[in-house]
Amino acid sequence: MSPVKTRQRLSEVRYEIRGELARRARELETQGRTLVKLNIGNPGAFGFRAPENLQHAIADRIARTDPYTHQQGLPEAREAIAAFHARRGTPNASAERVFVGNGVSELIDLSLRALLDPGDEVLLPSPDYPLWSAATILNDGRPVYYRCRAEDGFLPDPEEIEALVSSRTRAIVLINPNNPTGANYPRELLERIVAIAARHGLLLMCDEIYDGILYDDNAFQPVAPLAGDVPCLSFGGLSKVHRACGWRVGWAVLSGDNAVVGDLYHAMDLLGALRLCANVPGQFAIEAALTADDSIRALTAPGGRLYETRKALVESCAASEHLELVAPAGALYGFPAVVGDAAKGFDDHAFALELLETEDVLIVPGSSFNVPDRNFFRVTLLPEAPALREVLARIDRVLSRRAEA
Ligand code: PLP
Repeated sequence: MSPVKTRQRLSEVRYEIRGELARRARELETQGRTLVKLNIGNPGAFGFRAPENLQHAIADRIARTDPYTHQQGLPEAREAIAAFHARRGTPNASAERVFVGNGVSELIDLSLRALLDPGDEVLLPSPDYPLWSAATILNDGRPVYYRCRAEDGFLPDPEEIEALVSSRTRAIVLINPNNPTGANYPRELLERIVAIAARHGLLLMCDEIYDGILYDDNAFQPVAPLAGDVPCLSFGGLSKVHRACGWRVGWAVLSGDNAVVGDLYHAMDLLGALRLCANVPGQFAIEAALTADDSIRALTAPGGRLYETRKALVESCAASEHLELVAPAGALYGFPAVVGDAAKGFDDHAFALELLETEDVLIVPGSSFNVPDRNFFRVTLLPEAPALREVLARIDRVLSRRAEA
C-alpha cells in the first residue's frame, strides 16, 4: 500500500524546539544519559510551580467542570481579563472582546485562520517564535519577515517594516517581550509601528505572553493602549508569567474601532464555536492570576531565581571569547551569537548536535527561529544559575575545540 499522503505545505513548516534534536535527546536518555534540556520554555520542568492560590482556585471548583463553557470562555474569567486590560489602558476592554483558548498557541492559529485568504501576507519578526510562521503557512498565508538584528539590540526598524507592506499585507506581528531574543520594545518604537498599521489598515497581532517577565529597569509597554481605534489582538496567558503552561490557558483581547473589528470578531467567534470551548479547569485560575498573583516579581528582581540565571548567562557570555550576547531585557531566553574563530564555517545545527552528543546539553539552533544567520543559538533561563554557568562552560569547551580546529 502507498503511504497515506499528508498536507504538502507541512514540508514548509518547522518547529525544531521539539524536533530532531529533541528526539535524539530522548534516545540518549533511554540509554541512561542525563541531559540538561534547554530547548523548551517549560518552567514546570525546572521545578517552578504555579502559585498556590491559582492551584486552589482550580481545586476548589474542580467538581464543577462538567459543562462546556461559551466558546469565548467562562464569563468570570473573561471579566477578569477585560478588567486587567482596562487597568492597562486598553480602549473599550470588555468581556465581549475576550477569547479564552487552550494556550496562546491555539489562539494564534485560530486568529490567523480567521484572518487569512490564500496568498495574504503577514509581517513577522525574524527571529520569530516559529509557531507564528507555521500557523501563517498552514492557514495559506505567506510570512514576510522584518529583521530584528543583534546590532540593533534585536529591535525592529519601523522603516523596514513599512517598506515590506504590500497590497496583500494583512497584519503586523509583534512579539514583545521577545522570544527568542529577550528584547523589550520601547514605547516610541511601538508608536511608530502602530502608525504604520493605521496608515495601511493592518491588524496588529501582539504576542505579549511574557508581559510580566522583565529584568532591571525594563518596563513593559502594551500595544493596545497606544493603538486606540487601530485593530489590535493582544495575546496573554498563564503559561509563563504564572508558570502554569500545562494548564493550557491563554487569551486574546480584541481592541479597535467596533466597525473595523466586527467581522474579525464574528470570524473568531465562529471558529471558537467549532472547537466548542477551551479547557475549563484552567480557566478557574484566571481571575486569581490577574488579581492576586505578582509572584513573578520576586523571581525577576535581584536575588530572584530568574534574575540570577540571567545574570549568570550575561556574565558567562561576557567571559567567553567565542560568544556575544545582547542581554535579555525580558522573557525566559538568551540568544547568543558565536563569534571569532569559532564562528568560521559555523553551522548552528551541527553545533547543537555536537553539544548534545559530547556535552549532554540540548539547545535550539538559531536558524530554527527563521533567521538567515547560522551563528546563533537559544538557551532558556530556567535552570538555577550554577547549572546555567556549567552549561555555558560546556558550550565554551565545544567552541574552543572548534576555534582550534
Ligand atoms: N508565544 C510565544 C512567544 C511563546 O514563547 C509561546 C510558548 O513558548 C507561546 C506563544 C505559546 O504559549 P501557550 O503555552 O500559551 O500556548
